Parts: sequence; C-alpha cells; structure tokens
Amino acid sequence: MSVPVMKVTEMKWPALSLLDKDGIAEFAENLAERYLVFGPVAKGSEYVFAPVGKGEVLELNYHTTILPPKKLLHQPFEVLFSFHEDGIQENIVEQPKQIIFGIHPCDVHAIQILDKAYSVEYEDPYYMNKRKNTLIIALNCSEPAETCFCQSLGTGPFLKDGYDLLLTDIGEAYLVEVGSEAGMELVEAVNLRPAARVALVEKQKVYENARRKFRKRLLTQGLHELLESNFRHPIWEKLKEECLACGSCTMVCPTCFCYNVVDKLDLSLKSGKRTREWDSCMLLEYAQVALGHNFRKDRDARVKQRIYHKLLYYEPQFGTLGCVGCGRCIKTCVKKIDITDVVSRIRGE
Ligand code: SF4
Ligand code: SF4
Repeated sequence: MSVPVMKVTEMKWPALSLLDKDGIAEFAENLAERYLVFGPVAKGSEYVFAPVGKGEVLELNYHTTILPPKKLLHQPFEVLFSFHEDGIQENIVEQPKQIIFGIHPCDVHAIQILDKAYSVEYEDPYYMNKRKNTLIIALNCSEPAETCFCQSLGTGPFLKDGYDLLLTDIGEAYLVEVGSEAGMELVEAVNLRPAARVALVEKQKVYENARRKFRKRLLTQGLHELLESNFRHPIWEKLKEECLACGSCTMVCPTCFCYNVVDKLDLSLKSGKRTREWDSCMLLEYAQVALGHNFRKDRDARVKQRIYHKLLYYEPQFGTLGCVGCGRCIKTCVKKIDITDVVSRIRGE
C-alpha cells in the first residue's frame, strides 16, 4: 500500500501548523463560537460524538465511537414534512454550519460513500442540506483498536483527502494540514505555530508505527469471485442459528443508509407528520411486502444480504466496497459475528 504522506511540493495548501495538545480545548471553544462543533467525548467506558466547546471535553485518544458521525448527517429520526388539511409544510430548514472534529479516516471514507448514496441518482435534500454545511477536521489514527481493519481496505489508518483540516498526533502537538479553502480560514482564525517540514517525517513515523499495530485484516484479493461462488456455503446455515437478527450491526455501521418512511397521524386524522427513521436489512419486516410475503424471511438470508451488500454489491453501485473496516459491527455483536472471520472461513482459513 502506498504511503499517504503528501510531498511538500505537491501540497496545494502551503500551511503546515502545530496545535499544542493543551491548546485543543481552546481551539474547539474558539470554533464553537462560530459553528456547531461535534467531537468524541467519553460516555461511560465508550465514546460518542457530542457537542463540544461548552463544558464537554474532547477526547481525541479514542478508538471508536458507539455510533458513527453519520448520525449528524443522516439522523436516526427525522421529520420530512408536516401535513394538515390545508397542505404540507416542508421541514428543510436552514442548516447551521457544523464541524465534525476528530473524525477518523474510516468514518471520513464512510461519509464519502453516503455522499454518493444520497446524491448520485437522486439528491436527498435532507442529507445534502446538512452535508454542504459540514466541515471535517479529521484525525489520523495512531492506535487502531483490536477490531479495526481499515488498513486492509485502504480506508485508514491515515487519510489522503476528504478533509478540511487533518490532525496527526506527532507527540507534543498535533500536526495540522489544510485540505480546503474553508480549512485555511479555520487555521487563519486562530494562532497556530508554523511547523517545520521535519514534522512530515514525524508524521511518517507515526504512520509506520500505526500500520504495524493492526491485528485484524480482511483479504480483498479475489473477494468478488469468492462471494459469488459461495452463495450456498455451509457457513450461512451456521450463521442462521447464531444471529439474533437484532440489527445492531447495521445501526452502528457508518455506511448503512437505509431508512423507513412512516406517517404519524394525529388522533383527529386531520394532520400529522411524515418521518423517516433508520431501518435495517437484518430485521424481519425489512423485506416484507404487501400480503405478507417476505423476501428474506430466514436469518441466513439477512446475514448474507448484509455481508454481500458491503463486500460485493456496493462496488458496482458506488465504485468502492461498502465496508470501511471500522470494526463497529464486530464490537457490538453480542454473538461475536465477525465479518472478517466470515470471509476467512469461506476462504477455508
Ligand atoms: S450479526 Fe450480530 S449484531 Fe447483527 S443482527 Fe446478528 S446478532 Fe445482531
Ligand atoms: S460492515 Fe462493520 S466494519 Fe464494515 S463499515 Fe460497517 S460496521 Fe464498520
């Protein structure tokens, strides 16, 4: 895999800066005066993306969050419009500018997939309204968790593009790289120390070190052929018994984008709201159609659909695999069903 450190001469944005670690809170507070800022904060022994800058402390030494930052763009529950006897009222409101701070490379890649899902064939105004008003301050990963396998998929641990600012922990400070005009404006608004070119050498060391720490991998070579020829592999029968069809693996997945549309009527039957909420192909009702027929009644069909969608069906749709290797589905599954393990077992490893 090629090393994603840009040569200084290739950089479109000239500024390389240093952000002292004890200056992070002040930096976030400064941003919070002009933007809604969401970043990783502690919640019990886990982490979540939550508003920062007003007492909440950014925890940049996190491995992963319970839910991905997609919840800030494609909300778990959203009112599309209200209706009443006289007509409808759209719910596309002016979106305040927001910053996702400290987002890891795998989650940035996932947002790039969502961008395609919500704009290529039909532009989803609810998603795009938020997306166009979102800045990304990404954070390269130096400590992958034991469930991470982004390296196998080229979606981490370091990021090449798709950010406004990119931070790398190089010891006493974060190296700050600029990736857009908007990122440049963020840097100009605060007083960061300029970084010498040698900081890129430090960044390279952090990258090499992070690469050595991965314990999990998903071999992508020949993956399409492997899955196409193993539609009836015995592992699916086994997973039918193991999977609880709880849907947690899809709820925490940063690239899952399915939703259900529900009309909620007032008791008067004269007004109500059309809403959408996250849905999951792992749930029984997902593939149920009129008159009760269900295209994926059995759990093996649903597990297979999830894994095939991520590793086989996304590519012709979006030009990339649908898994970014964040490991959340592995971490969250009470039955320890592991997408990398499923592929290894089909390979006979
Ligand atoms: S694979 Fe695990 S998390 Fe996903 S539906 Fe089955 S039991 Fe739930
Ligand atoms: S399938 Fe699992 S590892 Fe892959 S992106 Fe979704 S949650 Fe992350």
